[in-house]
Amino acid sequence: MIRMKHLDLESRVHQRLDAMRADIIGLTQAMVAFKSINPRFMSNPDASEESQIQDHLEAKLKSLGLHLTRWEKEALRPNLVAALPGSSGGRSLAFNGHIDVVPIGDLEGWDYDPWGSDIVAGKLYGRGAVDMKAGIAAFIAATEAIIASDITLKGDLQLHIVVDEEAGGFAGTRDLIARGFRADGVIVAEPTSGRVEAAEGGLSWVRVTIRGRAAHAGWRFAQIYPQAEAEAQNADGVNAIEKGVKFVGALREFEREWALSRHHPLMPPGITTINPGVIVGGVGLGEDGMPRVTSNPAMIPDVCIIDFDFKYLPTETFDEVREEFEAFVSAFARTDPWLREHSPTVQWHLANIDFPPFSTPSDHPLVAAIRMAQQSQGIETVLSGKRAVTDAAFYAGAGMTPIILGPAGEGLHGDNEFVDLDSLIETAKVFAGAILRWCGIAE
Ligand SMILES: [Zn+2]
Repeated sequence: MIRMKHLDLESRVHQRLDAMRADIIGLTQAMVAFKSINPRFMSNPDASEESQIQDHLEAKLKSLGLHLTRWEKEALRPNLVAALPGSSGGRSLAFNGHIDVVPIGDLEGWDYDPWGSDIVAGKLYGRGAVDMKAGIAAFIAATEAIIASDITLKGDLQLHIVVDEEAGGFAGTRDLIARGFRADGVIVAEPTSGRVEAAEGGLSWVRVTIRGRAAHAGWRFAQIYPQAEAEAQNADGVNAIEKGVKFVGALREFEREWALSRHHPLMPPGITTINPGVIVGGVGLGEDGMPRVTSNPAMIPDVCIIDFDFKYLPTETFDEVREEFEAFVSAFARTDPWLREHSPTVQWHLANIDFPPFSTPSDHPLVAAIRMAQQSQGIETVLSGKRAVTDAAFYAGAGMTPIILGPAGEGLHGDNEFVDLDSLIETAKVFAGAILRWCGIAE
């Protein structure tokens, strides 16, 4: 009988969401119109409208009777948590969405005003439309429809609406979690075209610093070609850049072997890449970890710094992969007479970029709740894994169970970004169904 009642209530909520269609689209349009560019990517950070969009959303959430918490980790960059307390005895659920967006790039690439919220043929255009203001509109709408249907949930429902996802989450989700917000399940409403992304790999930035010996480049000839003793005496330089290039080549083989020997069912083969993204060579190691001299090719460089974007599988741990990588660096050093005596150093937590991985089992009750909510919409659930990293990582790192699910659209971080409007409404319905099933309905 509970099941019947449940379906009854769910269809009541869905009818309400259909009736709210214009309002849901209107809320998304209003959000897209705010230029809430992540200020870390702006020459004039004060021009970001992160604060203004949060004012707009705060007023909306208050009008629904939700309990609001608002704070700023960085000035003018407010985060919002809106809570709907349950009657007790149910599981708690948090939705997460970020209101910051990336810059628009060259305007010439856009056929629509990036802040104009134009609707053409069922698509709403604008920067942030699908990444991820529509996802936020969808979970606010789902919450509103449940409240308006006079349903009391057993478990608590929280809406986490944050800044700073596009720059690593320091002033947003990472701070939210540091402040102690917790939930039994978390849905991050990043765009997934309705796929349930139940896994995400780990990502860390790591720096390898290789030391050589500085010398005059005039005697390089004597290092690389056999010479009479008098010439050879002056040839004691060791070129750190060349050691670094050798390291990058060896690492490419390590990367390939890693890719061949490990796999996660929801991730494409070879996802565990180690990208050499920054390389800086020069003379002398400064306090800031960078070479002191980078403008004199007449010197044989004794410092080579290489920064890597290091990815690992959803089911691996940071400690495991760290140990393997360091063992590789040691093994590499043993192949070179100089490096054997002057081992490269490995520095983790570079720029504090550390995204813990997660792999939420396909039979987890949170996945089951979403599966049933999608079924009620005639949608067959497709499980997938996230290629990039999201704020979901930080919930996982704090021991929570996240998944990523959101609407369809294109142009993320590119030109002509849009969200598909039917997908937006469908997402709100799936969110509502998942809330009812996961949090439970009070009698
Ligand atoms: Zn996003």
